[in-house]
Amino acid sequence: MSKPNILLIYTGGTIGMVKDSDTGALKAFDFNNLLKRIPELRLLDCNIETVSFDTPIDSSNMNTKYWCDIADIIKDNYKTFDGFVVLHGSDTMSYSASALSFMLENLAKPVIFTGSQLPIGDLRTDAKENLITSIQLASLQKHGNPLIKEVGLYFEYKLYRGNRTTKINAEHFQAFTSPNFPNLAESGVHLNINKDYLLKPILGQDLKVNKRLDTNVAILKLFPGISKPILEAVLTSKLIKGLVLETYGAGNATTERWFIELLDKAIKRGIYIVNVTQCAGGSVRMGQYETSAHLEKVGVISGKDITTEAAITKLMYLIGQNISPLNFQSIFETALRGEMT
Ligand code: ASP
Repeated sequence: MSKPNILLIYTGGTIGMVKDSDTGALKAFDFNNLLKRIPELRLLDCNIETVSFDTPIDSSNMNTKYWCDIADIIKDNYKTFDGFVVLHGSDTMSYSASALSFMLENLAKPVIFTGSQLPIGDLRTDAKENLITSIQLASLQKHGNPLIKEVGLYFEYKLYRGNRTTKINAEHFQAFTSPNFPNLAESGVHLNINKDYLLKPILGQDLKVNKRLDTNVAILKLFPGISKPILEAVLTSKLIKGLVLETYGAGNATTERWFIELLDKAIKRGIYIVNVTQCAGGSVRMGQYETSAHLEKVGVISGKDITTEAAITKLMYLIGQNISPLNFQSIFETALRGEMT
């Protein structure tokens, strides 16, 4: 049997950074140096090719154009390669993994995002394990077909569904979690795949890359004391088409009249408002408390147990698809890529 072909896509991030000798700040460096630092890659049972952003970026500079670049690289190489590993800074990796999960329709091959908390050249680096295991995961096959057929995120011994993740720690090697969905795989002495949780897409359809993402969206986190002029400024902004509202607990918000009236008016003007919880885990259940029943009544969309990262990218994606307003809510409330329960 021939070895699987894996494409490594280097976008930037700490994994390939070096310290600037003058300032001491971390900055991206040439991808070729990254490969020199990991001779172990040659021992893996797959063929590896690499492609790099011309100018690698810190993922704090990630934007929709770069997401399209990643999607294009995958599309252009989709037939030749069995799996893709995207090296990406950890800061916005959950956003990118979520966005790509929506952009890559009918994906039937693994796209594994990974990065590291310490640069590859650091003695105590977490980069090598993250990179090597991500490549192994992307290489897994069953009857000659890829085992993983979705966008995943691998970090510190765990493979997560990409659009279920969130970055939770700026210092620990365990930087990510998947609050509402089990891990897809765990790496220890053995590489244990939780096959029951892997996405099982309908096969036989060609990969379709959706690059129309609408960025006229925003995220607003509620807090006690939020004022009318501030919410009004957001909701009456000329360009806004969608808002992810981070509410309390199971999707609760103030019942003050001005608040509900502003939401009601905005929704009537065609703005989509999605309710997600600002809790670290759990689901929005509008109607469970009096403090969320009014949101449901004016037409706020339930984000259920979606992460904020997946909610904002799903909003960009669905608004970009020009879906009829009549169907928008029910489509948003449906799991398209396993992003909600
Ligand atoms: N600032 C870096 C980035 O997101 C952090 C990292 O790579 O982990 O690109």
